[in-house]
Amino acid sequence: MAVEQREARETVAATRMVKGACPHDCPDTCATVTEVRDGQAVRFAAAPEHPVTQGWLCAKVRPYLERVYQPDRLSTPLRRIGPKGNADRWEPMTWDDAIGEIAGKWQTIIARYGGAAILPYSYSGTLGLLQLGITNARLWNRMGASGLERSICGAAAETAVRATYGARWAPDYADVLESRLVIIWGHNPASTGPHFLPLLREAQRRGAHIVVIDPRRTLTARSADEHLQPRPATDGALALGLMHVLFAEGLHDEPWLEAHSIGWRDLRDRVAAYPPERVAEITGIQAETLVALARRLGTTTPAMVKFADGVQRHGNGGQTARALACQPWWGRWACAVVASHTAPATMCGGTPRRWATPASVRRRHES
Ligand code: SF4
Repeated sequence: MAVEQREARETVAATRMVKGACPHDCPDTCATVTEVRDGQAVRFAAAPEHPVTQGWLCAKVRPYLERVYQPDRLSTPLRRIGPKGNADRWEPMTWDDAIGEIAGKWQTIIARYGGAAILPYSYSGTLGLLQLGITNARLWNRMGASGLERSICGAAAETAVRATYGARWAPDYADVLESRLVIIWGHNPASTGPHFLPLLREAQRRGAHIVVIDPRRTLTARSADEHLQPRPATDGALALGLMHVLFAEGLHDEPWLEAHSIGWRDLRDRVAAYPPERVAEITGIQAETLVALARRLGTTTPAMVKFADGVQRHGNGGQTARALACQPWWGRWACAVVASHTAPATMCGGTPRRWATPASVRRRHES
């Protein structure tokens, strides 16, 4: 073989394309591809074929290579010398020493008190699905550590959505293109799920009416057709008020509710206590605005209600999420982006569309 040919082959062999996923806790779950040459990553980009990523990464993640090879980056474990406090001093140590020291301390605890004496109080951050939900769980299970719900930001809404639908179901991102009305509630996808935005814009171009419900004037709100700004923590009352109008004006779909839900008559009785005037006092949203939105929701099909963690980070947050999740029981669809990275079934993109069937909802409520 000629020298040039051999060199060319060696060069090719030393270059690898590594497929990966964005490690951020983000509903888009972008696919990435990294070009690695002689053990060094030289190019990091979006996977063009991924249906949600669509060949682009957000500004947080695009410069990843600069961060990975940033000379100031901490690259070795450090041990604190002396007591905690302002005068902390640190000395470098090897990975073997660091792991050995931690493992030794844990083994001492386990031998003395049992594995349950260790509580893995942790949640998310810059962790992908594998690290967040699978690899660390194996470690904790293996050592018999205490179990922990682990979600410290979305558990209330996750439980609420499960209680309402029987599981954490959601439609695909692309379903927004079929929607005539899109209500984005307590969620700012322009900043926290940007790959939804081109689809939302396209839906808007096709005539969909976009409503954002958020106390803040977010980037997403600025481009909506309508922006409702309820007082913080009053979303539950607003949801009950919308349902009040839907029932009062006969805009609910009774055959659909009979076939697909349980307890809707009890819900109707409960929301009777939330007429628009009372809800206006609680939320700061004018009664006429509320009525107009309820009418729009009750007469526009298909409509999408898309909500996220923002609505449940208050007292009674779980019940607020439940009230929102009940809105699509008029034959619309809902999309709950709740701690989305940890549960693919709740994501709006990158996962198969999965819906609760009437049978599965009933089974869950009867069990
Ligand atoms: S949009 Fe989300 S999933 Fe995609 S690169 Fe940015 S943080 Fe990662």
